Amino acid sequence: MEESLFEKWRRTHYSSEIYEELDGKDVIVCGWAENFRDLGNIQFITLRDSRGKVQITIPKKKVSTDVFDATKSIRQQFVLGVAGVVKANKEAPRGVEIIPSEIRIFGKASHPLPLEPTGKIPADIDVRLNARILDLRRPECRAIFRIRHEALQSIRKYLSREGFMEIQTSRIIGAASEGGSALFPLDYFGGKAYLAQSPELYKEELVTVFEKVFEIGNFFRAEKSHTRRHLSEFISIDIEEAFASAEDVMKVQENLIAEVIEHIIQSCNKELDILNCKLKKPDLPFNRLTYSEVLEKLAKNGCEIKWGEDLTTKASRLLGEMHREEFYFIVDWPSETRPFYIKPQENDPKICYAFDLMYEWIEITSGGARVDSKDLFIKRLKEQGLNPDSFDFHLKIYDYGMPPHSGWGMGMDRFMLVLSCKENIREVVLFPRDRYRLVP
Ligand code: ATP
Ligand code: MN
Repeated sequence: MEESLFEKWRRTHYSSEIYEELDGKDVIVCGWAENFRDLGNIQFITLRDSRGKVQITIPKKKVSTDVFDATKSIRQQFVLGVAGVVKANKEAPRGVEIIPSEIRIFGKASHPLPLEPTGKIPADIDVRLNARILDLRRPECRAIFRIRHEALQSIRKYLSREGFMEIQTSRIIGAASEGGSALFPLDYFGGKAYLAQSPELYKEELVTVFEKVFEIGNFFRAEKSHTRRHLSEFISIDIEEAFASAEDVMKVQENLIAEVIEHIIQSCNKELDILNCKLKKPDLPFNRLTYSEVLEKLAKNGCEIKWGEDLTTKASRLLGEMHREEFYFIVDWPSETRPFYIKPQENDPKICYAFDLMYEWIEITSGGARVDSKDLFIKRLKEQGLNPDSFDFHLKIYDYGMPPHSGWGMGMDRFMLVLSCKENIREVVLFPRDRYRLVP
């Protein structure tokens, strides 16, 4: 059945490959009916596939009665196969149209649709997410996910070229890697397990084997706060490198960002236009501000943060206003604000080798040099109220030969906000998960 269907209905061209040079040629195109016009004696269908659109023109005089009558039953988003002849026509979009000899309906759509998928009528984000698959057919969404694809390709290419090896660690873990608060617990054959918050400890362990590793993966945090930059599930780009300092991996981070942006500017011109997004290649190196400098800057602008505390959202917003369209690092954080695996500085243990990469007011990446002695690791765990026994599996690795190492974790979805000029993280994730959304 399947075989015989595709014997007849094998696509010969994507819609974007139909040019006036093909005038007179027989083709088969497949896709979704996006628009219609019925002028009585002539009907038009705009057929859209994953690569573009082409006009199907159905003049009563030139097609069979069957085709002409069947066309009247076609509605928006029906899935069609169209066999016909290409005709150059100056009046058609892109100067070309197809006159069908046969139209096959592969799939129907029920009307009214919950969403207008051509993007002409704006809809609320929740309406859109409820009908996400239709929403994704809008040109804006398709542009965003095209950019996302290109960015991921570019990230993999860059990191591989720099000698990082791609790894895949487990998503089911027995102990928190980022402190205990935001874990999703899981029943594991009657015992307790959690969804991984990050690949942190595993990637640190793997540098004792492969030295330079990276992972691109889904991670989970039970974020109670409902914001435009947090989801319960997000994609993290993680790297870890042996015999490297925080500054070394910051260089990897800024070079990576510059390369990805350059790639997007080159390869996604059309998509950036659709999104009305003016990306520009950032200047290197990015500015590096210390945490203390940041506090001074904020204080001068009327926002007091006590040394040792994290930046509030209000403070980050203010900082963002001072750093428009800019990536910058904040370094030298107080040790107490950072997770247990971050290494305190030898000459002043109150501050540590941690950094955040910011874009305007949004944190894109956190990273740093890691604790590389077992005793210090135990001390840091205790300081943060964690039980070293739960980290037995990881403490052992320090007995097998642990090199000094550094790394970072970058929120891919947050980076996508920059690459597509969007403000809500839900726009750049196919099926976002938050406290109030588990479906679709
Ligand atoms: P924030 O302070 O913004 O909540 P964080 O400091 O808790 O983030 P990290 O543990 O540093 O997050 O994780 C590294 C990166 O992963 C972050 O800089 C961010 O880009 C991304 N990230 C973390 N949590 C989320 C989330 N819930 N949704 C989307 N991205 C996230
Ligand atoms: Mn962070």
